[in-house]
Amino acid sequence: MIYELPKLNYKPDALKPYISEETLDFHYGKHHQTYVNNLNKLIEGSGLEGSDLETLIKKADGGIFNNAAQVWNHTFYFDTFSPDGRRAAAGTIADAIIESFGSFDNMKDEFSKAAATLFGAGWTWLVQKNDGKLAIMQESNAGNPLRSGYKPLMTCDVWEHAYYIDYRNRRPDYLKSFWEILDWDIVGSRF
Ligand code: MN
Repeated sequence: MIYELPKLNYKPDALKPYISEETLDFHYGKHHQTYVNNLNKLIEGSGLEGSDLETLIKKADGGIFNNAAQVWNHTFYFDTFSPDGRRAAAGTIADAIIESFGSFDNMKDEFSKAAATLFGAGWTWLVQKNDGKLAIMQESNAGNPLRSGYKPLMTCDVWEHAYYIDYRNRRPDYLKSFWEILDWDIVGSRF
């Protein structure tokens, strides 16, 4: 299997002013692409050739896990944005958010707090657990909740490369913008 960089569902300038075209050029065009390239190199001769990304996330370790998870995580992250989508949860996922967090705003506050306080590089996740309840998880580096058996619904990349061009060291400002480009029809379709 040759791993490929998936196409974005929007133009590179479509998320302005929240995420600039320059950030997408680097974050998608260089960082995401590099994880794809690294994975294609590392998989050769590993005995894991032909495995899909989910299998590698659950079973692989070291460089193969890191790059496979980063490919999957970035695709999942970029696919959740749209320039003109629904900006608040609706339907069954909205009900589940109220049941698990009390309100949509409480969930946003808890998620933002988790993303702001995640030490170093990593990802903050909204996941569905086996009992149907929703939860927020912090994962360091390339971490992905599939490895713990949880279903990812939404994620925020808090590696500095995700925000440093637009926001420098101001991660909380990046997190404020994150909610302005999330498309809840897409998040809801994963529920
Ligand atoms: Mn990233």
